[in-house]
Amino acid sequence: MKTILATVERQTPKKEIIQQAAEILKQGGLVAFPTETVYGLGANGLDAVACKKIYEAKGRPSDNPLILHIAEKKALYDIVKSVSKKAEKLIDAFWPGPLTIVFEKADCVPLEITGGFSTVAVRFPSHTVAQALIQAAHLPIAAPSANSSGKPSPTKASHVIFDLDGKIDMIIDGGDAEVGLESTIIDVSGEIPMLLRPGAVTKEMIESVIGKIEIDPTVLTKPSQTLIPKAPGMKYTHYSPKADVILVQGNDLQKVQQKIQELVNDSTQKVGILATDQTKDSYNCEIVLSLGDRQNLEQIGANLFKHLRKFDFLGVEVVYAETVPQKGEGLAIMNRLQKAAGYKMITLS
Ligand code: AMP
Ligand code: MG
Repeated sequence: MKTILATVERQTPKKEIIQQAAEILKQGGLVAFPTETVYGLGANGLDAVACKKIYEAKGRPSDNPLILHIAEKKALYDIVKSVSKKAEKLIDAFWPGPLTIVFEKADCVPLEITGGFSTVAVRFPSHTVAQALIQAAHLPIAAPSANSSGKPSPTKASHVIFDLDGKIDMIIDGGDAEVGLESTIIDVSGEIPMLLRPGAVTKEMIESVIGKIEIDPTVLTKPSQTLIPKAPGMKYTHYSPKADVILVQGNDLQKVQQKIQELVNDSTQKVGILATDQTKDSYNCEIVLSLGDRQNLEQIGANLFKHLRKFDFLGVEVVYAETVPQKGEGLAIMNRLQKAAGYKMITLS
């Protein structure tokens, strides 16, 4: 298949390009498009046949449900059974934006896209291009991250091209995704709301609106046969570059730097270091990538997947990575880092 590649201005995407992409979606095709979190791979979310193509193109396990994207609040009521008070509060506070909410699904939502569950996850993205496309298609758009399953999510159109060129109908390049981490997912159906996947809308931000929430234990602990994540996608190794990733954690940053340097010195493989602005110049290693300023977790989140992909591009075999505190967006960063590392972590006392 020849994949159409079109570039648009982020704030003022050309109407003809959006219309062309919307037609593809209406006819059951696949279009990758930018959102504020990561690039999404879109299909008509009410068309099980179209959505099957998403699973095929990504190599995604069929039990991993898709998020439906809408571009106006009232579209929600067509695809869910009911909207609780807590959900309403979250919607008012965080939509449009990087928060996905899980609801009981309406009958029109095919079970094929919900992994067989009676629930459906819904998000209203804030990105102008995503909104324009969803409005033009006039459909709820199922859109997982536009990467090959298991790879780090794409934050640039070039990442999508690398993974999916020739497998999908169209890619819209609208520049870099500014958040760079997938949306926060919350399930408010139980008595105490549960955070299923951390993201840029943080636990603290959510609690300031609806009070105490719980975190799915698998957010920071390796899933097992007895510890099964409520978001099925979280059970898979995710976000992994080809390289082995090993996290080095400790309260004393200098000790962390020393340990990483020792590991690098002892290694016989091609090594890379995932550092921060505060530490990058202290390392003696050919490949050191800085995630940004340690005090600026948004910046670190935005650079994470890009850098994991860059290590692959550079042929790195082992990455030693610093960690960040698990507060605010740090929880999402640590969740993705731990998954990228397959939970391999050296903790210094
Ligand atoms: P992606 O769009 O690639 O970021 O993946 C979507 C994520 O949302 C996966 O981790 C899914 O398991 C999760 N998800 C989608 N629908 C549901 C649902 N109904 N209940 C719980 N998690 C969901
Ligand atoms: Mg994904």
